Amino acid sequence: MSKILIIEDEQAIAELERDYLEVNGYEVTVCNDGEEGAALALEGDYNLIILDLMLPGIDGYEACRRIREQKEIPIIMVSAKKEDLDKIYGLGMGADDYMTKPFSPSELVARVKAHLARYDRLMGQKKTNNEVVEIRGLRIDKTARRAFVDGEEKILTTKEFDLLTFLAQHPNRVFSKEELFREIWDMESVGDIATVTVHIKKIREKVEPDSQKPQFIETIWGVGYRFKV
Ligand code: CA
Repeated sequence: MSKILIIEDEQAIAELERDYLEVNGYEVTVCNDGEEGAALALEGDYNLIILDLMLPGIDGYEACRRIREQKEIPIIMVSAKKEDLDKIYGLGMGADDYMTKPFSPSELVARVKAHLARYDRLMGQKKTNNEVVEIRGLRIDKTARRAFVDGEEKILTTKEFDLLTFLAQHPNRVFSKEELFREIWDMESVGDIATVTVHIKKIREKVEPDSQKPQFIETIWGVGYRFKV
């Protein structure tokens, strides 16, 4: 069931919106304050936000900005003044839709449905586009930039992640430290091939069951490293 957060200080309007949405099968939470509403939106797992413009606490502009910094969920902004909505539109606030009060509740429900469907499609595409490298127990999600060993997430730094991914994408090929340094660090980087050694050590500590007996990244003495398959 999709969860909707209504941030609206006019109780009668909030209740009307809630009733219509609930009748249509949505789970609805109402908040009457901008500051609290934005915090709720960020903490909760809502699928869509209906956001009034003029609110106590912070206004809808600021609430929208805060939510957008962290979340891509659809935001429908509502205001009694069409001019204000035009202004928001012009500012490119990141809201997905704008409605002028008073609007018919069925119009609101229709728009909520449309935005949720669009968002689901978008997320579905993202999921299938996720590039994943999977070798034995190691799983690297390139899109989300996350790495897992036997289902357990391993937190890698940016360069550790890039280095591990590069090696895993070229299994069984031996790379010299110079090659790896050139590949992962740009020319302007401060550092030398010792940086590669340090990063390999860190990666092993994080992803290898026994970093003394590496199963993934093998040292080829005098040459460099390779990802074993
Ligand atoms: Ca208001």
